[in-house]
Amino acid sequence: MDRDADYGKLSGRKLEGMEAGARIQVDERKEHPMDFALWKAAKPGEPAWESPWGMGRPGWHIECSAMNLHHLGEQIDIHGGGNDLIFPHHENEIAQTEAITGKPFARYWMHNGMLTLKNEKMSKSLGNMVTIREFLGEHPADVMRLMVIQSAYRNPLVYSEDTLGSAEQVLRRLLSAKKPAQSGASGLQAQAALALNESAQKARESFKAAMDDDFNTAGALAAVFELVKAINSARADGASAANLEEPQAVFAELTGVLGLQLLESQRSQSDAEPFIDLLLELRQDVRAEKNWAMSDKIRDGLKALGVLVKDGKDGSSWDWE
Ligand SMILES: [Zn+2]
Repeated sequence: MDRDADYGKLSGRKLEGMEAGARIQVDERKEHPMDFALWKAAKPGEPAWESPWGMGRPGWHIECSAMNLHHLGEQIDIHGGGNDLIFPHHENEIAQTEAITGKPFARYWMHNGMLTLKNEKMSKSLGNMVTIREFLGEHPADVMRLMVIQSAYRNPLVYSEDTLGSAEQVLRRLLSAKKPAQSGASGLQAQAALALNESAQKARESFKAAMDDDFNTAGALAAVFELVKAINSARADGASAANLEEPQAVFAELTGVLGLQLLESQRSQSDAEPFIDLLLELRQDVRAEKNWAMSDKIRDGLKALGVLVKDGKDGSSWDWE
C-alpha cells in the first residue's frame, strides 16, 4: 500500500488519515493497515480454485477489475455504484487495476445516493423494505420513476408518504399535457401559435442543458413543467389539434428520455376503480335483461378508456389494458 501514492484519490482521503483512524484490529498478515486481500485462502467447505498461492478465491474487490480487464479492456468510460461503495471498494479497484495498467481505470465515476425510509437506509436486514413488486401492486410504475428522477441521483432518495404523494401529483400534472384540444377549438392566432412552438423549443433546450449538467433530472423535469404550462394554457385559449401537435411531440420526446410511459390508464387509476366496478355491475343487469346493445356499448366505451372487460361463465371481470 505504501507504494501507491494515489490511494484515496476517489474518496479524497489521505492514507495517513486512514491509518490513524483504522478501527479494525490490524491483521498481522498485512504490511500496511490499509492493505487488502487480492486472493483469499480457502476455508473448509468454501468454493475454491487452484492458484499459485494454493486453493482459494478472489477477494471481493477483484470482481470489477477482473471483469473489465477481460471483457472491456484496460479503461472504461463510466463506472457506477452506490455511494457506500466509494470507500474502500472502488478505491481498491482503482489501486489494483491502475497498478497493473498504469492508466486511469474509469473516466467517470457516478455514485448514487441511498434509498432511505424515514431517514434510515432501506435494507433487507433492517426489515424496512418495500419491494418493487409491492409498490407496483399499488402504484403506477411512473410514480416510482418520478420519485427517483425528482431528486439528483447523487442525493439520498427518501421514500415517504410525502415524496410518494408529490410524485403522484407530478404524474397527474404531466398527464394533463396529453389531453387533446377542446372540441370545436377555433385555433390560435398565428403569433400565439408561433410563441407556443417557441416555448416548446425553449423547454427542449433547458431540458438538454440540465441533463448535460451531471444528469440533473430535477432540472430537466422543471423544463418539462414549463412546457406543460404552455400546452395547457394554449389549450384553454382554444388551441387546435394542429397547434398542439408540435409542443405535444416535444413533450413526448422529453418525457420519453426520462423513461416515463405516461399511459392514459395511469390517470388516477385507483380513483377510477370503484366506478369501473359499478359500470360492470350495471352491465350485468342489462345483460340479464338481454339488452346486448347496451352491454356492448359499455364494454366498447370502457375499452376506449383502456379498460378490458372479460366475460366468463361466472360473470365479467376487467383489467387495465
Ligand atoms: Zn466495480
